[in-house]
Amino acid sequence: MAEIIDGKKVSAQMREQIKSETEELYQKYGVRPGLAVIIVGDDPASKVYVSNKEKACAQVGYYSEVYRLPEATEMDELLALVDRLNKDEKINGILCQLPLPKHLDEEQVILKISPEKDVDAFHPMNTGKIMIGDYDFLPCTPAGVMKLIESTGTDITGKECVVVGRSNIVGKPQAMLLLQKNGTVTVCHSKTRNLKEVTSRADILVVAIGKADFIGADMVKEGAVVIDVGMNRKADGKLTGDVDFESVSKKAAYITPVPGGVGPMTITMLLQNTLTAAKKQLKIL
Ligand code: NDP
Repeated sequence: MAEIIDGKKVSAQMREQIKSETEELYQKYGVRPGLAVIIVGDDPASKVYVSNKEKACAQVGYYSEVYRLPEATEMDELLALVDRLNKDEKINGILCQLPLPKHLDEEQVILKISPEKDVDAFHPMNTGKIMIGDYDFLPCTPAGVMKLIESTGTDITGKECVVVGRSNIVGKPQAMLLLQKNGTVTVCHSKTRNLKEVTSRADILVVAIGKADFIGADMVKEGAVVIDVGMNRKADGKLTGDVDFESVSKKAAYITPVPGGVGPMTITMLLQNTLTAAKKQLKIL
């Protein structure tokens, strides 16, 4: 039976550390890391994510601002807000909650956020830096996954690592981070042939596809570390991952649950990035 990787526990430990560093920063420099979050429209899931981010900021002692903009917000208004926040000294990190309403261009907003304040690490400057292994910020979800793997004591060097999913925010950066830790990395997607054959080779399997319970025990190697990034809402309203937890947990050595695995880490890594941004802007890092 697999050992469950407790994302809430790892996240709580990290938040304690972040909180104490925040207090130290305040004592020494009289500033608190500042995060601005922008949300446009009424998407229910996005509203929950934003309010969780707001609560997390308060929990570790950050300064935060949330801009809840109406669905009808125009592109130039949104860009003007980002521009103002780029220049605001109280704000070290800026995040625009995606997806945006269809009439708004996400790409333009990402490009507008100053790379020094891009705590989601979506700006091409920051994604490019990840490619060359010289980065200030890592995208929150893949960075959280790395912390969870680390928490198991698994040495990634030389391991067969398989990432299922190749999105810009999860799959691709995840593959780069595993590669930087000397994993032998394969990235799978919807056109991959013989997926089961590939996933069954994985010592470390990271799944981020958005398909409920898609990865069964027959697709997993005995003793693997299995990280389930997926978040899918079932018909009964329950949250479930991309991995069939019930069967895979009997075969894997370590597995993340959904909820309570990767999810809690994502916001924690956002807090971490905001602290890093604040230190960089204060020129103490
Ligand atoms: P995307 O929809 O952007 O990407 C999904 C990826 O999965 C694509 O690369 C797609 O391939 C691949 N895929 C889809 N179906 C299959 C299949 N049958 N076999 C193999 N690959 C397949 O999703 P995201 O990366 O944004 O998110 C993935 C999941 O992770 C979602 O459930 C999302 O909710 C969750 N998530 C969770 C977070 C957290 O904090 N826990 C944060 C971010 C995401 P192709 O490129 O060929 O289309």
